[in-house]
Amino acid sequence: MIADYLSKVRQGQIDLKEFLHKVLDECKNIDGKYHYLNFLCTEKAIGEAESVSLSIKEKKSGKLSGLLVSIKDIICVKGIESTAGSKILKGYTPLFDATVVERLRNEDAIIIGKTSCDEFGFGSFNTNVGIGFRIPKNPLDIERVTGGSSGGSAGLTKALSRKNITHVSICTSTGGSIECPASFCGVVGFCPTYGRVSRNGLISYANSLDKIGITAPHASDIKPVFEVIAGYDERDSSSLKEPLDTSDTILEHKKKLRIGVIREAMDAIIDAHIKDAMDKTLEELKVEGHFIEDVHLPKTFKYGVATYYIIATSEASTNLSCLSGLRYGQESSVKDKSFNEYFSEVRSQNFGLESKRRIMLGTFARMSGYRDAYYIKATKIRTLIIDEYKRLFKKYDILLSPTMPILAPKFSDVKNMSALENYNMDVLTVGPNLAGIPHATIPIHENEKYSIGMMAMSDHLQDIMLLDFLCRLEASDAKRDT
Ligand code: GLN
Repeated sequence: MIADYLSKVRQGQIDLKEFLHKVLDECKNIDGKYHYLNFLCTEKAIGEAESVSLSIKEKKSGKLSGLLVSIKDIICVKGIESTAGSKILKGYTPLFDATVVERLRNEDAIIIGKTSCDEFGFGSFNTNVGIGFRIPKNPLDIERVTGGSSGGSAGLTKALSRKNITHVSICTSTGGSIECPASFCGVVGFCPTYGRVSRNGLISYANSLDKIGITAPHASDIKPVFEVIAGYDERDSSSLKEPLDTSDTILEHKKKLRIGVIREAMDAIIDAHIKDAMDKTLEELKVEGHFIEDVHLPKTFKYGVATYYIIATSEASTNLSCLSGLRYGQESSVKDKSFNEYFSEVRSQNFGLESKRRIMLGTFARMSGYRDAYYIKATKIRTLIIDEYKRLFKKYDILLSPTMPILAPKFSDVKNMSALENYNMDVLTVGPNLAGIPHATIPIHENEKYSIGMMAMSDHLQDIMLLDFLCRLEASDAKRDT
């Protein structure tokens, strides 16, 4: 666990440089088989470990001194190629660190690599990687997908934790990209309240939905990292000014909670193993004395996926218009070409299929004549969805649902899915993302072939309460296992 690791590093019981070399070797081995990394920051990380070791000796170390962190390749890291998993951004090396990266570095964390993702975050299985990128494989079963779009982050976190290596990954969710892969790979994935963590330096997918969060082996590993990356940032216009209340809430008070189980989500489960795991966990929570009952989110479940895909693709199609072969990444020859020809050539050759589909879908939904019927209507329905959650949080502390309706599918199953079938797999995760509420997935069952996650949600700004709930779940699980 992070707390133990950090104290060992601080006290010199772990030689940071030696440990880092071991981890980098391990990353190379894992990556050869599982493809979690778009870039391994070998030299830079070694340099950082040297300076962190020095500050530890001088007793000037930060809160996360020596913590090894990987960063989803959709977040800018200064001097390291940052591609968002797309060929069109090949060769783009940011001149600045994203705010999250800057805050991690200020507390002496060490960036070890950039993790694989679906191109620009467009996917649920990490199979929509850009042209020339490798598809990551599930650490529990190589024939299954990691889930996406933060598959590299979740896969690497699991693979390293199986080698007893402490590491966390910073990743993003627009409609479920932290939760889905974390649940498929058997780790904890936390997505905070919208605006809690600065988006400055994130290569935007859909600005009104994008959030930066954390994937870690244990729930208790999340809080120390979250406290470092959260907080107001004037470089993000949607950044929240409300201070983060980090005092332990329900952990200290052993409070019994009012928990709502989303009935529509339970009914959406496709694989019976997921229902069994959920039923067992809910029973255990009842035994612990929490008040649990079924709740309903009818509008969210009827309109959520359609609303999400209209808003997300509309925003994505405008965001991607800046990628025209002029400012960032790939270029082409301009000789004898008009701007339109040049622009079309660069984009045709360098965007993957799913990106092209989403650019067309989003452009259509925003076009004059269709705007009111699609985009504007979707934003209105989004408000109704937010209201539905808000009404429930007047009565409940926590809402629960399974994280995904299926087990991590095999690559062969994903190949046979239509785009629409694929989008429908997000039915459980789009709701909390549209509402901007904090949510997290925690493993509730694991065997040698797959893992099952449960998703917990809380009201806006109740991030710490949610994390405390997860820690409590984890602690009672550990007690039961011993
Ligand atoms: N699967 C969803 C999509 O493809 C969510 C992805 C994300 O959160 N980045 O849009």
